[in-house]
Amino acid sequence: MTNRRDRELGLFRPITRRDFLNGVALGTAGAMVAPQDLLAFAGDPPPARYPPGLTGLRGSHEGSFEAAHSLRDGTFWSSAGTPEDTGESYDLVVVGAGISGLAAAHFFRNAASPSARVLILDNHDDFGGHARRNEFTLDGRTLIGYGGTFAIDSAGPYSALAKALVQDLGVDVGRWTKVVDTRLYPSLGMKRGIFFDRETFGADRLLPSPDRRRRDDAAPEPGAEGPFPEQAWRSFLAEAPLSDAARRDLLRIHKDKTDYLPGLSSDDKKARLARMSYADFLTKVAGCHPDVLPFFQARPHTLYGVGIDGVPAQDAWGLGFPGFQGMSLDSRAGRGMNLDSVPYGEEEPYFFHFPDGNATVARLLVRRLIPVAIPGRTADDIVTARADYGRLDEPHRPVRLRLESTAVRVRHLGEVPTAREVEVTYARGARLETVRARRCVLACWNTVIPYLCPDLPAAQREALAYAVKVPLVYTSVLLRSWKALVKAGVHDIHAPGSYHTGVNLNLPVSLGDHHFARGPEEPIVVHLSRAPCRPGLPARDQHRAGRAELLATTFTTFERNIRDQLARMLGPSGFDPAREIAAITVNRWPHGYAYQYNSLFDPFWLENGETPCMVARRPFGLVAIANSDAAAYAYTDAAIDQAFRAVQEILPRRG
Ligand SMILES: Cc1cc2nc3c(=O)[nH]c(=O)nc-3n(C[C@H](O)[C@H](O)[C@H](O)COP(=O)(O)OP(=O)(O)OC[C@H]3O[C@@H](n4cnc5c(N)ncnc54)[C@H](O)[C@@H]3O)c2cc1C
Repeated sequence: MTNRRDRELGLFRPITRRDFLNGVALGTAGAMVAPQDLLAFAGDPPPARYPPGLTGLRGSHEGSFEAAHSLRDGTFWSSAGTPEDTGESYDLVVVGAGISGLAAAHFFRNAASPSARVLILDNHDDFGGHARRNEFTLDGRTLIGYGGTFAIDSAGPYSALAKALVQDLGVDVGRWTKVVDTRLYPSLGMKRGIFFDRETFGADRLLPSPDRRRRDDAAPEPGAEGPFPEQAWRSFLAEAPLSDAARRDLLRIHKDKTDYLPGLSSDDKKARLARMSYADFLTKVAGCHPDVLPFFQARPHTLYGVGIDGVPAQDAWGLGFPGFQGMSLDSRAGRGMNLDSVPYGEEEPYFFHFPDGNATVARLLVRRLIPVAIPGRTADDIVTARADYGRLDEPHRPVRLRLESTAVRVRHLGEVPTAREVEVTYARGARLETVRARRCVLACWNTVIPYLCPDLPAAQREALAYAVKVPLVYTSVLLRSWKALVKAGVHDIHAPGSYHTGVNLNLPVSLGDHHFARGPEEPIVVHLSRAPCRPGLPARDQHRAGRAELLATTFTTFERNIRDQLARMLGPSGFDPAREIAAITVNRWPHGYAYQYNSLFDPFWLENGETPCMVARRPFGLVAIANSDAAAYAYTDAAIDQAFRAVQEILPRRG
């Protein structure tokens, strides 16, 4: 039923045709949508679909997870039918076409032979895993966004091996400051903002953030360093819809240099902080009124996928959260810190962001493995190159990439210690097919592996199952212009109580033939992020609950929340969602980041015990295990390192 609010948000529901089908606004003067969306909606997929251009509910899209879930639930084999032997035989089969699987194929061919025959399977209709490209076409222009993995970046020093691969692929990370325009947003008067929503804070209000810079700034604004900006904080708090107690304590916790654990050594303080949440630190140790909690609750979402109830206070210190400035903590990492919170060292930052994030790294790897699939030669020209999905799986090529193919069984043909081949069975639509291989790398998620290889030792299966991934949503919204953002004076909004807690314009990067929007009248892709979780539970239970929520959320619900949120944030600056929003791609990642150990919930992590990932990644006959779960570290360099290790473990022995 259409009501007035729906109309304002552009959520019209005509009887014969929605104005907004599968993520794309239709029938609006001047708009030209990618043809595959229209055809896809009409029901007949065209022969060569172009997955990066598909809109609506993407990421783990419909059709990509059903076979694996049925395998998990024990219902798969009763209705699966008899597998059909393709007769295909490979030197290596890789399960998972994320960066780890693609890198494994690359390392294997380098080490074994460039003519080695490799098959890569993935359950999605696109390659890259989390490194996903979103593309839109509007008025003849192509706009690019990232649907997952944002940047070449790592919480710690970037691994030397991964650096070497990045360099080998032609990416010159040292050029970063030359390709990003750090002055664009400040020159338009745009800053970071904080949005208070009425459900959490009693009123909808968008205010400029009083913080000058964040620890993770990829493109710090010029002049962002400096002492605590007390006056900016006082003005901000005066306008914020917060109680007097929250205002008072927020100023204190940011400004005062109080030692809240006097009489303890730095190490003892860290040990105490490692065992309490930041939420408890604020209220029980630093004496803050509980009204301050909603302000901080979602601050760690983008790194931890949970709020401050699930983040240790010691980690909050490492992340630069306030409250520790008077506690005389020495700068060394404390035992049990999550790898994301370990304070940066003195190393040169190693950072690069392509407009589609690390999808470019995945595309460079695919071009290296199957050159005909993506035209061009450089890491600049690939930004605008169109992949030919029809050429990924050609019978006569040494490397084949088979999408929409979910591996459901990996078994040795014969006894594990003596077998010379494995058989890999995968579901492809309604069909079940098998291939043989002399070796196999499982570069899929750890939690899937016990179902693929039920013969693994029980301890290893248990260790694999420990890696409960962090659910996340990265949404790309195509706007016809960004005049309202300029008027509001924000390019990046933190919204602690809203459905999407992050809203930001992409970093202004121009590379090759790709040019960032030159002015606010031009279309742009705005990115929104959400970490579904259930505060109060242990972190891994929060991730399970968030995953269930994500899988039950329809595109219509996402769309309504996106339109509502953008209208409430930017409406006072002239934003009209019905007019401005041209398309939406929701990248839903129920299995997102690799789980990183947390001192509140993982005792072995505090006690320097054996970690589950070390047990989980042990090789099994001709099968080795890659992917970022194998390092319990949610970064691309880990995915690459683990691919290298896995390949070393199964390389044919010479001599
Ligand atoms: C939203 C988001 C943002 C991120 N941002 C960053 C960032 O900025 N920088 C960074 O370094 N890292 C980031 N990461 C972490 C990212 O996960 C890693 O960097 C890296 O891309 C992981 O690669 P992977 O190959 O190990 O896993 P994945 O990318 O998950 O690839 C594994 C693939 O295996 C497939 N698979 C699973 N089971 C099967 C099966 N049975 N059969 C066939 N295929 C299967 C999966 O569907 C997937 O496609 C981000 C992750 C997410 C979710």
